Amino acid sequence: MKKIGVFVCHCGINISSTVNIEEVKKALKSYPGVKFITDYKYMCSEPGQTLLKRKIKELNLDGVVIAACSPKLHEQTFRHASELVGLNPFMCEIANIREQCSWVHDNKKEATEKAKLIIKSIIEKTVLDEGLKPIEVSVTKKALVIGGGIAGIQSALNIANSGYEVILVEKNPSIGGRMAQLSETFPTLDCSQCILTPKMVEVAQHPKIKLMTYSEVLEVGGFVGNFEVKIKKKPKYVDYDKCTGCGLCVEKCPALVPDEFNMFLSKRKAIYTQFPQAVPNKPVLDSENCIYFKKGKCRICEKVCTVDAIDYSQKDEIVEEKVGAIVVATGYQLYSLGNLKEFGGGKIKDVIDGLTFERILSANGPTGGEVRRPSDGKIPREIVFIKCAGSRDEKNHNAYCSRFCCMYTTKHASLLEGKSCQIIRRRR
Ligand SMILES: Cc1cc2nc3c(=O)[nH]c(=O)nc-3n(C[C@H](O)[C@H](O)[C@H](O)COP(=O)(O)OP(=O)(O)OC[C@H]3O[C@@H](n4cnc5c(N)ncnc54)[C@H](O)[C@@H]3O)c2cc1C
Ligand code: SF4
Ligand code: SF4
Repeated sequence: MKKIGVFVCHCGINISSTVNIEEVKKALKSYPGVKFITDYKYMCSEPGQTLLKRKIKELNLDGVVIAACSPKLHEQTFRHASELVGLNPFMCEIANIREQCSWVHDNKKEATEKAKLIIKSIIEKTVLDEGLKPIEVSVTKKALVIGGGIAGIQSALNIANSGYEVILVEKNPSIGGRMAQLSETFPTLDCSQCILTPKMVEVAQHPKIKLMTYSEVLEVGGFVGNFEVKIKKKPKYVDYDKCTGCGLCVEKCPALVPDEFNMFLSKRKAIYTQFPQAVPNKPVLDSENCIYFKKGKCRICEKVCTVDAIDYSQKDEIVEEKVGAIVVATGYQLYSLGNLKEFGGGKIKDVIDGLTFERILSANGPTGGEVRRPSDGKIPREIVFIKCAGSRDEKNHNAYCSRFCCMYTTKHASLLEGKSCQIIRRRR
């Protein structure tokens, strides 16, 4: 059995005011593997480190556990001190009884019990630890960003502008994410598109960014610094090398489908660009709703395309890439209106969610920015905002606060105020 030394830190009173250190020491002194246990007011200080080094040498310890603050703060400090007296630094482990215990509890009895459990688990780990030797591994100097919303776009630009190659993978036909659906944005009430679209263009034109829209990551293998990823490129059924983005196919397509981008308030075609400012600004053919794919007849888009860009034979394509780092920026989905039955959600057409209201407010939305009822297109007399819908309701919905609806509801109310003035003027 390895000989483990345990050093319990008071962190001034940060730990000792909530954790009974004497009781912890008493409970652990004969725990299997523990050769020695002591405590000190500030383990990270010079006397604390000297104590650690002295005991490692004196007792010929095989491993040490420092029960103190987060390893983020002082793991290196204690590993370095251990190494100075010949102990493999990886045989020094940290039991976090501050951030994960004393700081988050006020019941001393329970916190003391929890501290004992945390330290025991780290003793068990140290008993199983093996001394490691750091090795140098080359790193693939290329990053993958998953999700082309504003977070993914900005991440890709930051990485690319630092001189590294980036692959940006977006599952939708265009990058832009939710921000493309917003009207004006807080805090400045700038138009969302005015902030977003120049960045979208910059991504598409950046020599270090490879943009893969209508694509999804299938598999991630390897390890940090050297990942191997498989990416599925879904068939667009349009050859982007030939397509000029003229839009004739979209205009002539007879198949109409509810438009996800406009939160189903309007219709789009089966061959479509996600929104007018989309990047890339070329259409994709949605085979699930295409008449030709469903019934074997139509091919109007093929007939009208003057550059022969329509290609019904396209299939899924799997691309393999090596990257050193991965940024996951896949954003959010709204809590479904259908879950909010108490407000008529999913049943009453004029009960809508925040993003649908954004589309109604948007100049490029289905009503051209005029506030109209989804049910009959009329101007509403009164609008009621329900905040915390689906939030802070452990029993029926989510326990947590969205931390967002207060902000956007305030924005909606002030945007509406501007619009209401127009409405009132009209009524008069
Ligand atoms: C009603 C409402 C109003 C708001 N108003 C404001 C405002 O005024 N100001 C403000 O600052 N914020 C506002 N927000 C918040 C804002 O929308 C978000 O903070 C922001 O858009 C989040 O960007 P994102 O890139 O993290 O996520 P998203 O915009 O959700 O982008 C994620 C992207 O990842 C893609 N994706 C998802 N899964 C995958 C996958 N598996 N593979 C590949 N791609 C994937 C998605 O298609 C999407 O394009 C509002 C939000 C709401 C709901
Ligand atoms: S008609 Fe042809 S060139 Fe024009 S947008 Fe459609 S596919 Fe592209
Ligand atoms: S084949 Fe017909 S239905 Fe399908 S995308 Fe082309 S025009 Fe539309």
